[in-house]
Amino acid sequence: MDLIFEKSVPGRGLSLLPPCDVPECLPDPENLRQTALRLPEISENDLSRHYSALAKRTYGVNCGFYPLGSCTMKYNPKLHEDLSALPGFTGIHPLQPESTAKGCLRVLSLAEAYLTEITGMNHMTFQPAAGAHGEFTGILLIKAYHRSRGDTARRKILIPDSAHGTNPASAVMNGFEIVNLPSGPDGCLDLDALRAAVGPDTAGLMLTNPNTVGLFDKNILEITRIVHEVGGLNYYDGANLNAVMGVVRPGDMGFDVVHLNLHKTFSTPHGGGGPGSGAVGCKAFLAPFLPKPVLADASFDYDRPQSVGKVRSFYGNFLVVVRALAYLMTLGAEGVREAAENAVLNANYLMKKLSENYDLAFDTTCMHEFVLTLESLKKQTGVSAMDIAKGLLDHGMHPPTMYFPLIVHEALMLEPTETESRETLDAAAAVFQSLYQLAHTDPDALHRAPQTTPIRRPDETLAARKPVLRYAF
Ligand SMILES: *Cc1c(COP(=O)(O)O)cnc(C)c1O
Repeated sequence: MDLIFEKSVPGRGLSLLPPCDVPECLPDPENLRQTALRLPEISENDLSRHYSALAKRTYGVNCGFYPLGSCTMKYNPKLHEDLSALPGFTGIHPLQPESTAKGCLRVLSLAEAYLTEITGMNHMTFQPAAGAHGEFTGILLIKAYHRSRGDTARRKILIPDSAHGTNPASAVMNGFEIVNLPSGPDGCLDLDALRAAVGPDTAGLMLTNPNTVGLFDKNILEITRIVHEVGGLNYYDGANLNAVMGVVRPGDMGFDVVHLNLHKTFSTPHGGGGPGSGAVGCKAFLAPFLPKPVLADASFDYDRPQSVGKVRSFYGNFLVVVRALAYLMTLGAEGVREAAENAVLNANYLMKKLSENYDLAFDTTCMHEFVLTLESLKKQTGVSAMDIAKGLLDHGMHPPTMYFPLIVHEALMLEPTETESRETLDAAAAVFQSLYQLAHTDPDALHRAPQTTPIRRPDETLAARKPVLRYAF
């Protein structure tokens, strides 16, 4: 498809700007452009077609089923978009006097109240702009806490191999050493390995729960107790709170810090790179270290001598918090719980249907997502997880997360979410079944898939390592 610059024809297009009705005022000559601004010149009709064609080539939750595991691609009610677009929210300036933005402060403190209730924490910051940024901030709190006690020997963060990949990165960026803990055959953290790893050098543990294979760690109370016993703190990666919100609380499980992905669980469209919000909650004893300012009685408190400082400009992605609050107020306490229960129900329903053909990585009740292993299918037919994922594209479905978690071979990780109907899940299961049959009858057809997409099999390593993000004129 041609770029808009390639469609440009000199002299084509519109000049609908009204005549200037104020005195002309030119900047100093050295601030003036020396060359004309390079803008595409195109008619309104061609412009409209260009963007419609681009829109048709994208795929989002509004187009169809999107079971991308660990990403919670659920439907985000349009009402929340309307609310976050209210001029009182979009028209504020971060530097305007606090007394003129009381309504917005009220949004932040209400959202803090609801989310600390849901997580079992005492305080929350909305500064972090994404989940990984929240992890970084949470680990910063743990580091500041140990330092404030003069406890500088704690250099290690323990991370199970079923954690999200961002966890070790966030700890390393804070200067910690990582201790990788193995999972047992049941997909849960190996308690003996944990007992052997903890000690006076343990700063803390980062647990993704439910973990990346979709399981709630059954030993969670024992895990947090072991870490506390040696003086370490417990960090809960709550990006996947969709499975447990309103049902159980990280604060009650022995966790000291948690981050939430408001852009996954709490109704902000995501997947295109933002904006997001990795809100971080903590217990009262960690509050002095929170990024400043913090909210106190619906105004900002900057007098925080022990604060880790700012982790982002101003107050974070405020409009994401507006959407989260709208979501929480629409659902209420029962609705939040029901959403989590339906997320788990839908995942188990789809898992049961797919297990008629495909092998499960862990054959047990799952939480919000589950993992298939296509190792034996690949041995029998030569068709890989990648081939099945490509085949799904020709059926108008977004593929699941592939080759993750790393502890499962030929993995496909599916998270259907609570907003899909039974009919959609049945249709998706039928597509998976037909691809399974095709793998046995005509595997080459799957090696050649997809046939219907604008791009078929790009060199993914090259695309990730050397992305071409600029157009060369
Ligand atoms: C998505 C996710 C993250 C990272 O969140 P980003 O907003 O992409 O930085 C961290 N942990 C888990 C479990 C996740 O699913």
